[in-house]
Amino acid sequence: MEKSKVVVVRCKNYDEADVYNAMRIGIEALGGIEQFVKKEDKILVKTNFLSTADKDSAIVTHPSVIKGMLRILQEEGYADVSFGDSPGHGSSRAAISKIGIDENSSFGAKIAEMNEEVKVHFDAGKTCKDFAFTKEVVESDAIINLCKMKTHALERITGAVKNVYGYICGHNKAAGHAKYPNDMIFARMLCDIHAYKTPRLNIMDGIIAMEGNGPASGKPTPMRVLLFSADPVALDSVFCYLVDLDPELVPTCSQGEVLKIGTDREENIEIIVAKAFEEEDKEGEAKERKIKKRVVTRSELLEKYGNPKFDVPRKKAKLTFLKGFSDVMTKFARRPVIDKSNCIKCGVCINHCPVPGKAVDFTNGKDKPPVYDYKKCIRCYCCQEMCPQHAIHVRGRG
Ligand code: SF4
Ligand code: SF4
Repeated sequence: MEKSKVVVVRCKNYDEADVYNAMRIGIEALGGIEQFVKKEDKILVKTNFLSTADKDSAIVTHPSVIKGMLRILQEEGYADVSFGDSPGHGSSRAAISKIGIDENSSFGAKIAEMNEEVKVHFDAGKTCKDFAFTKEVVESDAIINLCKMKTHALERITGAVKNVYGYICGHNKAAGHAKYPNDMIFARMLCDIHAYKTPRLNIMDGIIAMEGNGPASGKPTPMRVLLFSADPVALDSVFCYLVDLDPELVPTCSQGEVLKIGTDREENIEIIVAKAFEEEDKEGEAKERKIKKRVVTRSELLEKYGNPKFDVPRKKAKLTFLKGFSDVMTKFARRPVIDKSNCIKCGVCINHCPVPGKAVDFTNGKDKPPVYDYKKCIRCYCCQEMCPQHAIHVRGRG
């Protein structure tokens, strides 16, 4: 069996020219962009816009990475390109504007509004067969997945596999959390989305990653890498290697392997570190730019490029023998907790709670922070993801 290749390219900052060069190296090391998309394809560059957030917050794919991809596609002659995401809160256009991109700086690519819903029945889905995707996802021939390297309260990390949840149109995302209420079943549903339309290429923005209380309220932390792969599970597994986390503890990796979306097995992944160099002629003049590729081991990757102190839960979940019993597991799962001193009583957490009758509410009045009803709470952490004040923390395991 051929191994899944994951290319790692060092990139120290978000300088646009540096990121563009690093992306050229990564894509070339995988065989070139034409390996993944055809000239006549209608291409959607799917970013991570969890919300309308500052480019330096590490919440969203950085504009230099987005622009690097759009520039490469334009230079290589791809004419039908759009880019965007369907955020849980706000709009694709607002998120793009916030990070400083517009139609004049998008290398000919169109903004994908991602706000029109198309119902799709996908009979091959194992956990979910009916989806409300955005029109752009359904109508695209090829998707390039520009994900962000972040921690995630439900799935430990979010990367290439989780990023396809943005195929789902806006408000339907909260309902999906209620329907697939634990980390395993949610990950299996994500695998069905991948099976419906597998991104042709996955690129992870790990130049500045997010650790701790991710995916929206964690701490930006430099990892200084870009990762490239056709295999989203292998890509996320290499993210795990970089932070000394066992991919088998990450449901999107373990279920991705089980459901054959990709592989999280070390023996099936080839990690390639790539860099560019100028070949000199006999007179010592720089002649030609070439790519140098070197296969490295997991431990070498961690030692030279990783951060073993990256703040992510590494302990096994307690009571794994009860995994089949969703209600029991929920009682022992980590809890969202409001930091009252940061809460502005905006009610966003309440609006995003997918549980009928709400598991978080202004029980003590609208002039006081909301209160949780942990008996009702399914631990989907939508409230934590969406709190604009980063006032909600997830406490417990790990
Ligand atoms: S979303 Fe955050 S700031 Fe707003 S009410 Fe909830 S906890 Fe408070
Ligand atoms: S209170 Fe928060 S974690 Fe609990 S169900 Fe509602 S949104 Fe999900």
